[in-house]
Amino acid sequence: MEREVIEFDVIFVGGGPANLSSAIHLTNLIKKHNNEVQEGKKQGEVIEIEDRIAVLEKGAYFGAHNISGAILIPDVLSELLPDYIELGCPVDAVINNESIYFLTKNGNIKIPLTPSFLNNHGNYLLSLSKFVKWLSGIAESNKIMLLDGTAAVELLYDGNKVIGVRTDDKRLLENGEYETPGYILNSKVTVLGEGSNGTLRRSLIEKLNLDKNKAPSIYELGVKEIYELKINPLKKGECIHTLGYPFRKGLSGGGFIYCISENMIAVGLIAHLSSEDPQLDPHKELQKYKLHPFINNIIKDGKPTHYGAKTLPCGGYFSIPELTSDGVMIIGDSANLVDSRRLKGLHTAIKSGMLAAEVLFEAFLKGDFSSLQLKKYEDKLKRSWIYSDLKQARNFTPAISKGLPLPGGILLGFQMISGGSNITGDLRTEPDYSTTKDMKTFYGNKPPETLPKADDRIIVNKLTDVYFSGTFHDEKQKSHIRLKDKNTCNKCISEYSAPCTVFCPACVYELYEGYIKINFSNCLHCKTCDLKCPFQNIVWELPEGGGGPRYSLQ
Ligand SMILES: Cc1cc2nc3c(=O)[nH]c(=O)nc-3n(C[C@H](O)[C@H](O)[C@H](O)COP(=O)(O)OP(=O)(O)OC[C@H]3O[C@@H](n4cnc5c(N)ncnc54)[C@H](O)[C@@H]3O)c2cc1C
Ligand code: SF4
Ligand code: SF4
Repeated sequence: MEREVIEFDVIFVGGGPANLSSAIHLTNLIKKHNNEVQEGKKQGEVIEIEDRIAVLEKGAYFGAHNISGAILIPDVLSELLPDYIELGCPVDAVINNESIYFLTKNGNIKIPLTPSFLNNHGNYLLSLSKFVKWLSGIAESNKIMLLDGTAAVELLYDGNKVIGVRTDDKRLLENGEYETPGYILNSKVTVLGEGSNGTLRRSLIEKLNLDKNKAPSIYELGVKEIYELKINPLKKGECIHTLGYPFRKGLSGGGFIYCISENMIAVGLIAHLSSEDPQLDPHKELQKYKLHPFINNIIKDGKPTHYGAKTLPCGGYFSIPELTSDGVMIIGDSANLVDSRRLKGLHTAIKSGMLAAEVLFEAFLKGDFSSLQLKKYEDKLKRSWIYSDLKQARNFTPAISKGLPLPGGILLGFQMISGGSNITGDLRTEPDYSTTKDMKTFYGNKPPETLPKADDRIIVNKLTDVYFSGTFHDEKQKSHIRLKDKNTCNKCISEYSAPCTVFCPACVYELYEGYIKINFSNCLHCKTCDLKCPFQNIVWELPEGGGGPRYSLQ
């Protein structure tokens, strides 16, 4: 197949907050430099931006695949764009009231003191999809080439040096060829900001062994619904975090309720994928959460309107791989920079993007894009507040996974007074796929709990929620999901009851006449199946760009 070849200086793979911030910061630095050169205030060459710097996004539009809580710590935004208010940053509300509750099965206990790392007063509530759309507008005005609906499906190498990417082939024809073959995009540097468990990032790390001697990357799955309320007992800008119910032995995590407007709230759960439960189903846990009297009282007059799900990395400090190699840099969630104590990764995504941009700007000035120059990004990151924050949070997720209130509460208490240390030494983690127990070991003779019948108001059917996510894939393409070995599934079906049919938040996997059927069009690109199949039997590849969820308020 003949492919057009296009040359760039920098290609950013993924149009999330990390890469868009990085591209904006880089071009702002270049614009300032060019002005100074043109005004004779500085010696040097003008650096071209137009047609030299591109951001690729697989979603149908910028923001389509971006979902978050989202609480943003604004300091980093002021650093990126000091005039963000004048530029129309879409902030839904400023947080003016916050609380944390511990939920028992039917009751609740308000936690009297908010630990400093969970203090959100003055932070912003926003929709990440709207925020990303806004950032893409700024990137466009900086003359960055924006390629939405375009997936980078393969990293291109010269030996071990990354020299660019190949983009997706579009529209499979009956003769097996494609109507529009993908492009070869060559670049001096490729920046991977693909978000959680990025596909190219994973292939790079495996090929170059960039995670040698690091703890495994571990993940959480966030599921979130937006409710429209007739009567809203919360005030705009109010945010509630919960611990306890529906989490229990074998499944840890937390819940959140954010009041984003006079008549809208976001309600969500973050579940650790290290769960031992072979019937782990975060969507079902979210429905149980909404039946709890504390949550039910808030949403009882409402109806769900939007849904989405995505993983986020929570391995933090110990799991950060090497983040640069010849021709390539890794930033944001792809670099495992989420601060799990704060449940925040937006500020670290933006800041890591800015640090990468500063190193790239220096590379332009010196005409030096060598691996030694790119490595300066890792040095900067290690000296920044990102590393010191993540160091404090290094034992947080494994402590929570041990169970709350005990023994996790004691471990967390010790961490708070010791700067993040664990009483018995640093806690180890295992890859999420390896922690699942079989049905007999986990449940014995007790069957998994079932939900009352869905009413699509409080208990929302998973397929109804898939509809609310707007997800869709052109079915005239090969499925982007395949099973490595069907016999492995047979063993898994009998011993584990096919976990993929429940953990997938979009009903992609279905047990049909004893086999696993794949409804790939429903996929939300959350990446859980790539991480949690106990036999690592699922291959998730990048589908044609333009498919997947169409988030607007997430
Ligand atoms: C439910 C939930 C709640 C959260 N709450 C908060 C919060 O309140 N505050 C906070 O700070 N953080 C929160 N986070 C974390 C935060 O959203 C992430 O840390 C942040 O979005 C990371 O930004 P990113 O740019 O690295 O990745 P992403 O936002 O995931 O963006 C990556 C982009 O790359 C695209 N992409 C991936 N691969 C390719 C490819 N090969 N080709 C083309 N495009 C590609 C994706 O479609 C996506 O648009 C939450 C996360 C979740 C899931
Ligand atoms: S895909 Fe994985 S989780 Fe699903 S049945 Fe097969 S082995 Fe089990
Ligand atoms: S198929 Fe995999 S990536 Fe897609 S929604 Fe289901 S679990 Fe997530």
